Amino acid sequence: MTLKVNCPMCQKAMEWTTSNPHRPFCSDRCKLIDLGCWAAEEHKIPGSPVYADTLSEQLDEASDDLNNVHPLFSDHHQ
Ligand SMILES: [Zn+2]
Repeated sequence: MTLKVNCPMCQKAMEWTTSNPHRPFCSDRCKLIDLGCWAAEEHKIPGSPVYADTLSEQLDEASDDLNNVHPLFSDHHQ
């Protein structure tokens, strides 16, 4: 006898069997979503490391500019 259930996350029909390691979900993906692993998903977004590299390059350029006008910047700060 096979029990049919719907995945609580995506409502996809599936068989409830002990061989399904993700039950009551249809897949590992739905299981992770239910556990609230959004942070883990965010780390997989392509382009994030590239954006970080670009940002750090801009910060390096900005600090070079600060060094060029350092006396003025110091006066402003004190
Ligand atoms: Zn599902």
